[in-house]
Amino acid sequence: MPGIFAVIAGVFGLVFGSFLNVCIYRLPRDLSVVAPRSFCPSCQRQILWHENIPLLSYALLGGRCRTCKAPIGWRYPAVEAMTAALFAGTVFEFGLTIAAMKWIVFGCMMVVLFWTDVETRLLPDELTLGGMAIGLGFSLFVPQSDGPAALLAPGAAAPVASLLNSAIAAFLLSVPFVAFSYGYARLRNIMPPGWGDVKLLGMLGAFLGLGQGILAMMLGATGGAILGGGYILVKKKDPRTHALPLGTFLCAGGIVAAFWGPRIIQWWWRLNG
Ligand SMILES: [Zn+2]
Repeated sequence: MPGIFAVIAGVFGLVFGSFLNVCIYRLPRDLSVVAPRSFCPSCQRQILWHENIPLLSYALLGGRCRTCKAPIGWRYPAVEAMTAALFAGTVFEFGLTIAAMKWIVFGCMMVVLFWTDVETRLLPDELTLGGMAIGLGFSLFVPQSDGPAALLAPGAAAPVASLLNSAIAAFLLSVPFVAFSYGYARLRNIMPPGWGDVKLLGMLGAFLGLGQGILAMMLGATGGAILGGGYILVKKKDPRTHALPLGTFLCAGGIVAAFWGPRIIQWWWRLNG
């Protein structure tokens, strides 16, 4: 019966996506995500419950505020749909398990960070550093076997080895990245990545482990270089001053690595074996 649970999870995801939209707007602005109730950022009027029904309200209102007619960004329905797909897909794949919970929590944080970086170039610490702590916490319950823990601490209890693997991945993805990217930025005379990106990489390592974490980083960096570099060329921006939302690309890489990573890595080794 995973189908029925997946559908129910999808409906939950739709509603939760509304909350993630609130987080995307408020977290980078240091506003509370619980109070006050949602308001139109243009005319400040409070949004009524029937104007806040996921997907449906956006369609019925024609994507505009009912009072001031200011356009509501397509990000709102997009995030609701993405979150619904995330909840449904994860429950379909993992059932009602703690692993499913881990990937839903991870996916929600990826969705929020993806958009805060697009809209404000900020990656709130609550989600990067907080997310790293949550990722380490999950490793106590969802075994992380990818890593050198078995070599470094043979005979360690399973949750300890799992936590060690998760922590090593968080460290290896973030700290060497700082040295490398700052050196590279100096060499090329371009903007170095921000600290938010470094903390985000640590969080990706904590959740994904070493192999999938590296995959997320490679996918994000390649995507950023191709799409972001292309954007800079087409729009004739100055690469020395134009900041690309690297975090957005890393989040997209993180989602791909989380859900398709094992298959991609297997395919890669078969290709090169
Ligand atoms: Zn308005």
